[in-house]
This record gives sequence, structure tokens and C-alpha cells, in this order.
Amino acid sequence: MTSYADLLEKNRRYLWNPFTQMKDYLDRDPVIVARGEGRKLIDVDGRAYWDGVSSLWLNVHGHRVPELDEAIRRQLDQIAHSTLLGQGNVPAILLAERLVQIVPSGLAKLFFSDSGAEAVEIALKMAFQFWQNVGKSRKNKFVSMSDGYHGDTIGAVSVGDVELFHARYTPLLFTSYRVPFPNSYRNPYRDAEPREGALHAVQQLFERKADEIAALIVEPVQGAGGIVPAPKGFLQGLRALCDAYDVLLIVDEVATGFGRTGRMWACDHEGVTPDILTIGKGLTGGYLPVAATLATNRIYDAFYGEYDEFKALYHGHSYTGNQLGCACALENLDLMDRNRIVDNVKELSPLLAMRLASLRQHPHVGDVRQAGFMVGIELVQDRESKRPFPVNKRVAWRVCWKARELGMLLRPLGDVVVFMPPLASTEDEIFEMTSILCEAIERGLREVSSC
Ligand SMILES: *Cc1c(COP(=O)(O)O)cnc(C)c1O
Repeated sequence: MTSYADLLEKNRRYLWNPFTQMKDYLDRDPVIVARGEGRKLIDVDGRAYWDGVSSLWLNVHGHRVPELDEAIRRQLDQIAHSTLLGQGNVPAILLAERLVQIVPSGLAKLFFSDSGAEAVEIALKMAFQFWQNVGKSRKNKFVSMSDGYHGDTIGAVSVGDVELFHARYTPLLFTSYRVPFPNSYRNPYRDAEPREGALHAVQQLFERKADEIAALIVEPVQGAGGIVPAPKGFLQGLRALCDAYDVLLIVDEVATGFGRTGRMWACDHEGVTPDILTIGKGLTGGYLPVAATLATNRIYDAFYGEYDEFKALYHGHSYTGNQLGCACALENLDLMDRNRIVDNVKELSPLLAMRLASLRQHPHVGDVRQAGFMVGIELVQDRESKRPFPVNKRVAWRVCWKARELGMLLRPLGDVVVFMPPLASTEDEIFEMTSILCEAIERGLREVSSC
């Protein structure tokens, strides 16, 4: 067995980690995970930590889940991978059927990929080409939301707007119309409630530009933008506007899907069916990289025709429809049903809210936002003015560091402490994890105040 010191040295020599300042990482004794067990991760020295962000918002049941492990082994006895380009495979077909049955009704066809970003790229290309195929190629622009996040590939970044991640790549991007997201804590609309302000802004834009707009893309709860739920009725309002002006609605549920918000889909809270839906993250229970883009028959039919009409969707990846991933996803869905995972989130969400209620009194806690098991706690220097801490205080990062010392792994977003427990977490586990969370926030803020 290789020691921690050896691994760290090899990490230093050979491995470049994602979204990571390597100097910072290597200087601070990073956790190196050896294995997982239930809702915990165990490092190479045998120390156990709660997986407080579900391994970046993916994990559903926990780690080393016997049923998922077994499903992958069973598939492995058949085949690991064959291409989906121009041929089929068993679990990909069965999974497409299964997902189409449970997504908002009206979404009828499913296109596989390997990551959320790819699912979004495909959604954008689908929407763009749809209008070409129906003879309205002037409709070729996109509307996106301020502070939106849809992944890190260039198309996804083009409709994204997280300043720190995206601004530097601006010269590479296609431009899209941007509407301020209806953030209820920091309302960008001077003269209106956030929802009304945003819907009005979208309407104004559509009124002038709908004949050149292909689609609007939105997250029901902004994830990387700081865990910001859209106000109630916003998705419905967007659906109505998109219908009225013949603009496609793309809803990105890569983060919110598979029960994260207490319903299978965030769209279900509003009874909305988008024209295109992107899903990923929890799809395989947090095991393997599978994502998907779903579309209505109206869209699919516009691509359907004779070979030499050249209407096909020219997109695919080497591992699209990977059998191991699809088999795992099928078992994940079975297990979600059997263990009533979505109900678990719904039933334990009030407990989670109650456990965090006392934080609201803290002079440096500006806002506590929650949608099911998706929590963001925004730390501010001054509650009254909502003034942020200076960036170099790294306040949320400090809190996460304290949490690590107390036995839970978290990853912040700017000044927002993110808490996203695995969806199968029990009442006792939520209790323990939130104890650590609150203690870490206390300690982290005390440290910042004293320096
Ligand atoms: C994480 C995320 C993505 C990107 O998914 P990857 O699998 O990391 O490429 C896209 N959209 C949303 C809303 C996300 O949260």
C-alpha cells in the first residue's frame, strides 16, 4: 500500500486537479480518498469524513452500495462498452425507456452523453439546428441567466455567467442575451419583486427579439451561482412566455434532478415541461459518468427524415451510452423507488431547515437558502448592508476547513458554504452532519473576526 506521503508526492509530480489552484492544494495536506462506505469517505490513513457535498452533488445512496456494485458486475459479465453510433445496446435502450417514463410528460426522446456540460452542449446544438431544420434559421441566439452555470465546455460557458469561472474566456464565447436571475436575497430589479422583474425583462426581450432567439436556458435552482432557488412561479412564467413567443425552453436539471429538491425533478414543483431537459449528476447514483438530454417529439421530428436530407443531429462521444453506466443507472432508479429516496428528501427537509434555523441569528450569516437537500449559506461581513467579506479572508473556505477538522468534507462557492448531503442520508446522519456544519460555521467565522 502506497503511503500518504508517496501519493502526495506523485500528485505533485503528475496530477493536475480540476478547479484547483495546485499550489494552494499541495501546500495544505489535501485529503486523498482511499475508499467509501455509506455516506462517508475514508482517506488513505483511515480517517472517515461525512461526504457533505455528495462528492460534488452526485451521490444518491452513499458509497459501496451492494445493489449498484452488483449491477455493474452483472453488466461486466456481458460487456463493458460498445458504441451507440449507428447501433444499439441493451441497457442504453432500457434506460432511455425508463427515464422517458419518469421525466415531465411530453419529453419523449433521450440523447445520451457523459457529463452535464455535454448534455448542455447537445441541448444548445439541438435547439439551434431545430430552427434550421424547420426553415427558421434566423432563430439562432440564446437567452441565459446572470450567475447561471451549465458546465465548463465552451458552449456551456457561453450561456454561463459565474464571473470567476467564465469572464476570462469571454473572447472565445458566442454571445447570448442575459437576463438578471430573480435572486430573492440580492434582488437585481430596482422596481419589482424578483420574479415579476425577471419575467418582465424576458418579455421585453422576446417582444423585440423573439424572431432571432432559438431558446432560453435556465436552472430551477442556481447551483454554482450560489445555491439560489428561483422564486415560486418563475418556471411557469417562463414556460408561458416561451409558448407565447415560440422560443424553446431548456431547463438544466443536472444539479436539481433525481430528487435533490424533494421532487424527482424541480420542474415537478411547477408542473412545467421544458422543450429540452438536461440531466446528469445523480443519474448513476454518483457512480459513473452518464448524462442525457431529453427532447419533445416536436424537436425530434424536425431531425427525422431521409439520409440525404442531412437533418441528423451530428453529435456523439466515444463513450455515449456506455453499458456499465446505463446498467448502474437502471439499478439506481430501482433502488430510489424501493428505498423511497425522493420521499426521504421531502420528509427530512423540514428537519434540515430546523437544524439550520439558529444560523440565521448569526451576525455574519446573510442568508440560508434551501431546496430539499440543496443548501447554501451565504456569509457576509455586514448583515444590514449585505456587504461581502474581502475576498482574501476566504471565509467560506475557512468554514470548510473547520468542517474537515470536525470530520466532514465540504466545498464552498465564493462566500457561500454549500451543504448537499447524499439523498439517502438518515435522520440521525442529517443530525450529525448539521451539527458539524453549524460548529464549523461558528469556528470559521470566529477565526475570520479575530484576524
Ligand atoms: C454540474 C452542472 C453542470 C455540469 O455538469 P458536469 O457533469 O460537471 O459537466 C451543468 N449544469 C448544472 C446546473 C450543473 O450543476
